[in-house]
Amino acid sequence: MKNIFILHGPPGAGKGTVGERLSKNLNIPLISTGDLLRENVKEKTELGLKAKKYMDKGELVPDKIVISILLDRLSKDDCKNGFILDGFPRNISQAKNLEKYIKNEKVKVVYLEANDDFLVNRLSNRRICENCGAIYHLINIPPKVPGICDKCGGKLIQREDDKEEVIRNRLAVYHKLTSPLLDYYKKKGVLFGVRGDGELEDTVKQIIEISKL
Ligand code: AMP
Repeated sequence: MKNIFILHGPPGAGKGTVGERLSKNLNIPLISTGDLLRENVKEKTELGLKAKKYMDKGELVPDKIVISILLDRLSKDDCKNGFILDGFPRNISQAKNLEKYIKNEKVKVVYLEANDDFLVNRLSNRRICENCGAIYHLINIPPKVPGICDKCGGKLIQREDDKEEVIRNRLAVYHKLTSPLLDYYKKKGVLFGVRGDGELEDTVKQIIEISKL
């Protein structure tokens, strides 16, 4: 049986960081639709160019584009024992498309909870390496040399959509469109709540316990 996780939660709740740890621990890939879209934007693919105008405003990219990019990724060999999704599904229609694809495989949905002010602080201080994607926080996880990635020496940048006014919009979009998904998964009995604003180690430990259920 496959190990399929969905990391759910508002932007900035730690889905990327927690997901990386989980991916190493469970030996299944972490797949972020945001990252897949950003790769397409960077490479200026047709889908990437279409997606960019939504992403820069913090709005959801149309389902057709996201689903096509995601299903392409899930068809790769490394997903055969399972995968962890970060940022997908964002609405019920995406959830149903995923179900169609995975058929009878079970999913576990981990909801990382955190309040909006905490998230705005975390995201507006977030910097990422434009080369390797490593994530920093100017106050909590600062790089050794300002502006430079500890791991690869790449330049640290702020994502366009990590500016405060865009963050507020992303949170509003999340509350409006994405949180109904919580009810959807709760009714299915596959939702597990975990605090996203505590210590990383505790969060990871809790999810590993959930993976054993
Ligand atoms: P993220 O890195 O998950 O915060 O995603 C960054 C941006 O990519 C979002 O604000 C959306 O514009 C877009 N995006 C990522 N995943 C999805 C998705 N599942 N559905 C629609 N848009 C998405």
